[in-house]
Amino acid sequence: MNNYPAIKLKRGRDESLLRFHPWVFSGAVASLPPNLDEGDVVEVHSAEGNLIGIGHYQIGSIVVRMLRFGSAAPIDSDFFTERLTEAFRLRRSLKLIRTDNNAYRLVHGEGDFLPGLVIDVYGDTAVVQAHSPGMHFCRDIIARTLTEIPDLNVVNVYYKSETTLPYKARLDPQNDYIIGSYSGSVAMENGLQFNIDWLRGQKTGFFVDQRENRHLLEHFSAGRRVLNMFCYTGGFSVYAMRGGASLVHSVDSSAKAVELTRANVQMNFPEDNRHTAYAEDAFRFLADMKRDEYDLIILDPPAFAKHRSALRNALIGYRRINAAAFEKIAPGGILFTFSCSQAVSREQFRLAVFTAAAQSGRRVRILHQLTQPADHPISIYHPEGEYLKGLVLYVE
Ligand code: SAH
Repeated sequence: MNNYPAIKLKRGRDESLLRFHPWVFSGAVASLPPNLDEGDVVEVHSAEGNLIGIGHYQIGSIVVRMLRFGSAAPIDSDFFTERLTEAFRLRRSLKLIRTDNNAYRLVHGEGDFLPGLVIDVYGDTAVVQAHSPGMHFCRDIIARTLTEIPDLNVVNVYYKSETTLPYKARLDPQNDYIIGSYSGSVAMENGLQFNIDWLRGQKTGFFVDQRENRHLLEHFSAGRRVLNMFCYTGGFSVYAMRGGASLVHSVDSSAKAVELTRANVQMNFPEDNRHTAYAEDAFRFLADMKRDEYDLIILDPPAFAKHRSALRNALIGYRRINAAAFEKIAPGGILFTFSCSQAVSREQFRLAVFTAAAQSGRRVRILHQLTQPADHPISIYHPEGEYLKGLVLYVE
């Protein structure tokens, strides 16, 4: 079978692909076929002319995102049916789909052998994000396939790729429903309700990746005064309320986020006056807050380093916010601290937190080391898929 144009690699540059790493870097390419368009499916051949597999072509440092290894079978609706069904089977076996939980990540890019594709499910709506031109061109097949998978029960598919596709590709994607329409947006996570705004919210509208870490926080909350910094939709705040916190303060620089947090707390705990939300800059808030005001602090900032070039400043940012927390948290306090920057390694993050702790001179112990949940799987051949890192610390 030889249906797709072929890219030829330089000698010896097929090694990582033979170990199923899903990216072909531009430096590995010996020759490109003529008239290739971004998003085309291409075959990848070794210098010796052997077929390695097929993938989506793109301009940039990652030239091909591999879809199949050892086969050039078409990328069609059978392909997506097989991969999406497998993704759904895994989520089902993880027991993430229950009457009290219907928000989860169905597809996590390379971790589900679908590079360039992210799909979050909220009840009967799937929010699809393409990160590659190739997946952008597959959006209709993907949407249709989603509605056909037995028991997945997706009836609306919202496409949201305006900010995730490479700008230079000039694809001009529109955020819109591909199938169905708005049908309410309250999702359940571990028995708590959340209003999810995929139309206006960040990413797909909610951060499902903190589900298990929020659950853990719930068990630390009883009787504690909680500060949820970078609260976004108030996920951690709602769990802290259920866990019996004596007060919960939520902070985000976005007024819209603060509004979402208030609404979510109100929906789960109406007329409960333990909660207050503030629209303020985190660095300001931490600088102004009093010593011993909080017994439990959550620091879950946005990715400080979106690219490797921003790494140094990102590490300074992590050190600064953690130093403020160590300086002010009450004795016997618990700090939940996170980094979701893929460019920051687990060791680098830990070193930044260690430096902040040392600066405060307090006795600090690690109670838990946290990561992303199982619906954000990491292909063992693609360690770059690991991005969420967290520590739960006991501060004396
Ligand atoms: N903890 C949240 C996710 C946090 S996302 C959850 O569990 O869902 C990061 C949030 O940080 C965003 O809502 C963004 O508005 C906010 N943010 C970014 N910069 C900020 C700053 N300097 N001060 C306060 N909030 C900030």
